[in-house]
Amino acid sequence: MQVPLLDLKAQYKAIRDEVRAAVDKVLEDQQLILGPEVKELEEKIARYSRAKHGIGVASGTDALLVSLMAIELKPGDEVITTPYTFFATAGAISRLGGIPKFVDIDPVTYNLDPAQIERAITQKTRAIIPVHLYGQCADMDPILEIAQRHGLFVIEDAAQAIGAEYKGRRAGSMGHFGCFSFFPSKNLGGLGDGGMIVTNDDALAEKVRVLRVHGSKPKYYHKIIGVNSRLATIQAAALIVKLKYLDGWTTGRQRNAALYNRLFQEAGLEDHVTLPVALAHNRHIYNQYVIRVPERDTCRQYLTEQGIGNEVYYPVPMHRQECYASLGYAQGSLPESERAAQETLALPIYPELSETQIGYVVEKIAAFVVTPRPT
Ligand SMILES: *Cc1c(COP(=O)(O)O)cnc(C)c1O
Repeated sequence: MQVPLLDLKAQYKAIRDEVRAAVDKVLEDQQLILGPEVKELEEKIARYSRAKHGIGVASGTDALLVSLMAIELKPGDEVITTPYTFFATAGAISRLGGIPKFVDIDPVTYNLDPAQIERAITQKTRAIIPVHLYGQCADMDPILEIAQRHGLFVIEDAAQAIGAEYKGRRAGSMGHFGCFSFFPSKNLGGLGDGGMIVTNDDALAEKVRVLRVHGSKPKYYHKIIGVNSRLATIQAAALIVKLKYLDGWTTGRQRNAALYNRLFQEAGLEDHVTLPVALAHNRHIYNQYVIRVPERDTCRQYLTEQGIGNEVYYPVPMHRQECYASLGYAQGSLPESERAAQETLALPIYPELSETQIGYVVEKIAAFVVTPRPT
C-alpha cells in the first residue's frame, strides 16, 4: 500500500472546477498583482483569524521579515525565538542584522518554553517570536505577559497554525503581528508561494502595507525603505476558494489524529511511541502529526520501504546549524530541542487519508517496534 506524506492531487480533484474558474477570472481581468481578490482574501483571513487587518505578502518568510521591518529591528537587536522550527523564523531576524536568541522548547508541545524566556532577555531584546509548531499554539498568556512587562513586540509565527486556537483566541490575533504562510503544504496552501500578516494595530497595519511595496506612498515617493513583497492575485483567487473548505479539512485532520491515537493505544504501543498531545485549551489543527519513536532513523527507512511517506521536522535545530556556529551554542545547550530533533517523526495526516491507510501505518510501526532487529 502507498501512503504519501501529503496528497495535494486528492485535494485538487475535489475542488478542481472551482479553482480553475477563479484562476480563469483573474486571467481574464489581468490585474495580476494586488488585484481585487487580494483585498477580498485579506479581509477574509483577518475575519477568520479574528484580527482587524490582513496584509497579503509574497510568502510566510516575508510576513516575518516585513513584520520585523515594521518594528524597525536594527543590526544587533535581539529577538527571542525557538530553535525547533523551520529556518525562516530565525532567518528573517538575521537578514535584518538581528540576533536570534534561542530558548529551549517544552518537550510535550514542542513549543517555546515560557519559563525560560525571561532569563534570555537583555537590554538589546526587542521582540519574541513564538512559533505555533505543527498546528498547536504556543503558551501565549505567559509569553504576552513577559513581553508586556519588558516592552517587547510579539510576532506570532503562525505559518503552520491558521485557524488554531489558544483559550478561544485565534492564532495570529494575540501578538502585535501574526504571520501566515500559503506554501502549498500548509493547511491553507496556494498554487505557489504566498503569505499574510494580520494585526489589530492600525498604525502597524499601515506601515506593513507600505513596506511591502518598497515603502512607496504615494506611488514613487519613499519615506521609508521597503521590499517587493506583493501577493499575486491568482494566489488570492485560489485561496479564497480553498478557505471555504479549511474548517472541513481541519476536522478531517483532527479525525485522523484521533484515529491514530486510538489505534496506537489499541496496539499497546504507548510505551514505545510518544503520541502528540493536544492541550485541552488548544484547538490543534494538525499541520503535522508528530510522534517520537525509538531508533527513529531506522524506523524512517523501514516506513519508506513499506511505501509510507514520512519526514523529520526538523533534523538540526537552529542553534546547531552551521550558519549560526558563530552564535556559540554548544551541543547540549538546548537539550529538549536537540532531543526532539533526534526522536521525532511526522506521519501522513492530510484530510483525504483513508482509515485503511492509517491502519496500515500503525500496523507497520507496530511491526517495527516489536520485531527484534540485529544490533
Ligand atoms: C512554512 C513556514 C515558514 C515560511 O513560510 P514560507 O511561505 O515557506 O516562506 C515560516 N515559519 C514556519 C514555522 C513555517 O512552517
